[in-house]
Amino acid sequence: MSKPTVVFDIDGVLADFTYGFTRAVTNDPRSQGTQETWDFEWKPEIIRSTWKHIDRSKTFWYDLPPLVTPAEAVEMQRLHSARGIIYLTGRREGDENNVAGQTYAWMVKHDLPLGRIVLTDDKIATIRELGLNPVGIIDDKPDLVMDFAMAAYPIYVRDWRYNRELPTQGLRQGIILAGNVHRVSSVGEFVSRVQSGQS
Ligand SMILES: [Mg+2]
Repeated sequence: MSKPTVVFDIDGVLADFTYGFTRAVTNDPRSQGTQETWDFEWKPEIIRSTWKHIDRSKTFWYDLPPLVTPAEAVEMQRLHSARGIIYLTGRREGDENNVAGQTYAWMVKHDLPLGRIVLTDDKIATIRELGLNPVGIIDDKPDLVMDFAMAAYPIYVRDWRYNRELPTQGLRQGIILAGNVHRVSSVGEFVSRVQSGQS
């Protein structure tokens, strides 16, 4: 078994994607460090053209505001030294806009640990392929959190309005997920629970 690792999602956990996305559409961002939603009410063509803009932008990912405080960044550095951190993100490379490079520079800008950054559309497959032994995984997306829970990974969900229905969804599918998903209100809480080996 490989060395224990802590797995961080980026958007909705460390970075306020909603701020960037709504600012790209309206110049009037609706989120201020609160990652309000992943559901946008605009017409599909507006969503598509915004993604086109994002896929060309050399600064979109670099400019996202953090959802972590400087003190939490220090705690993450400690965790990285002790356990090793890896970032798994659903971000995808765009049109020569170096998403991985922007993400790396964003980590530097916010003094976050420089763990490996992997762009993937299948996080569980990536964990298996890399032979990781996660002692804690944090994500915000309901579907993904449920997949991790069903695969018996130590999954923590960063609490936001849009993922509060999660245990109910799990129960509806006949799967008792409530006890397998640990809900945390901040990255700091996640880090301290993983550090202390508390689930
Ligand atoms: Mg996310």
